[in-house]
Amino acid sequence: MSICVVGHSNPDTDSVAAAISFANYLKAQGKDAKACMQTSADKLNPESTTVLKRFGLAAPEEISDAAGKDVALVDFSDIGQAPANIKEANVVAIVDHHKIGDITTNEPIYFNAQPVGCTCTVLNEMYKNNGVDLPKDIAGAMLAAILSDTVNFKSPTCTDADKAAVADLKNVAGVDDTDELFMEMLKAKSSVDGVPIKDLIFRDYKDFDMNGNKVGCGQLELATLDQVADMRDDLLKGLQEVKADGRHTVLLMLTDVVKEGTDLVVVSDDPSIVEKAFNQKLEGTSMWIDGMMSRKKQTVPNMQKAFGC
Ligand code: MG
Ligand code: MG
Ligand code: MG
Repeated sequence: MSICVVGHSNPDTDSVAAAISFANYLKAQGKDAKACMQTSADKLNPESTTVLKRFGLAAPEEISDAAGKDVALVDFSDIGQAPANIKEANVVAIVDHHKIGDITTNEPIYFNAQPVGCTCTVLNEMYKNNGVDLPKDIAGAMLAAILSDTVNFKSPTCTDADKAAVADLKNVAGVDDTDELFMEMLKAKSSVDGVPIKDLIFRDYKDFDMNGNKVGCGQLELATLDQVADMRDDLLKGLQEVKADGRHTVLLMLTDVVKEGTDLVVVSDDPSIVEKAFNQKLEGTSMWIDGMMSRKKQTVPNMQKAFGC
């Protein structure tokens, strides 16, 4: 029976890449194994889809029920994140980088969990330590997984081991510029292409009462403002329609997570209130505010103060 190597539910790039990587590792050791995931290929998140496409890898096979199967787990060890009926499965191995979860076994198994930023960092070490040949395409997916889980080394979970693994894997995968790879993933994650304007405005949107005035504020997190360059007019028109529905002001935060700032698009009965709130002049219908990332901590409190709340 083939060992199903599977990551957690609602899979991220690490869960997908680690399943592919560990299945290949087991096969190299003479075991019958296949990569699986807890979703269908068309429901995989856009970042993972981009990564698989870039490195020419097929999406793992969908698994929904683990009953009666031999399974190896990657990137989790919690029952709550497992395929259905995991208690009726035979768990044969676990490779992870999270706290130890509540899955138990009847027999001793291979278990390798380390406090590093990504499962693929652990897997890279396993390949190296055991002299297992790592194919170029799989190395690429593992590299992408580490960049994703560590947010391009910016996450507090990132360790020296993750950085060392990236240095190894970029050579094997033939990726010179890991920043470029990270940006491609970020763009996929924050994709706006083909999304209806109103869906973009309401993707992450809240209304507030500010001293008796209804003020709406949406936020789009972007890899670069270029992503919305062609739709500025349509966004503005959409915001005007939202404002026409009984609001004093509607703001849209176009947040550049790389430059760490926000282009604030403003539609208001009194734009001077917004200028007062951020102590800056509008250029047309928007203003760039350096360092503005958080609606909750930055945008709303300043607006409330300007409205005299
Ligand atoms: Mg994960
Ligand atoms: Mg992970
Ligand atoms: Mg993750």
